[in-house]
Amino acid sequence: MNLRRLVLATHNPHKVREILAILGSLPYEVLTAADFPDLPEPEETGSTLAENAIIKARALNAETGIWALADDSGLEIDRLGGAPGVISARFAGPDCTFADNNSKVLRLMEGIPVGQRTARFRCVAALAMEDGRLEVFDGVTEGVITFHTSGEAGFGYDPIFFSPALGGTFAQASDEAKNRVSHRGRAFQQVARRLRLLAGQTG
Ligand code: IMP
Repeated sequence: MNLRRLVLATHNPHKVREILAILGSLPYEVLTAADFPDLPEPEETGSTLAENAIIKARALNAETGIWALADDSGLEIDRLGGAPGVISARFAGPDCTFADNNSKVLRLMEGIPVGQRTARFRCVAALAMEDGRLEVFDGVTEGVITFHTSGEAGFGYDPIFFSPALGGTFAQASDEAKNRVSHRGRAFQQVARRLRLLAGQTG
């Protein structure tokens, strides 16, 4: 059987692993941006996660000619008015590390009591198909910003994001546990349901 090909826009190995764990069993041949090494990276010029996900999915679809799936995600901290949000990756500056971002958040949240440390991760996934069709999926997970980093797994803000659903930070969770409740897990579980349906429709 000739499986339909689908390409993931992300270069982040952590995200690829999390996403493949959800989409891996679907009747699609799932490629990643690494399978197309010469592609230019589009500028993420959108002012929302959805705009950026759509920019990336449409660009990759136009360049590869196959269905493209992109996601954009970020951390929204209530006490910081929703920051870092769409600039989560470069919150501490243009070339900052994950550790720099976590230090900046912990510094800004110094002295803030636990009841005012609520936050959420949000993920928007966009699926661009070659006939111009576009579908968008949203996933959210609620949590609390910790006072110190805890855990070694995951990436990004995982060590400072306490998930009540897991009873620990995302960096203390296995991939499987994180995927069950995370923003990306929730968005891509919807993507998986939709792709299964589309596979049925398109043979
Ligand atoms: P992206 O747009 O999905 O690459 O995410 C932007 C930034 O949000 C990342 O560089 C991370 O700092 C943060 N982020 C997104 N998803 C996660 C996650 O699952 N855990 C921790 N940080 C995340």
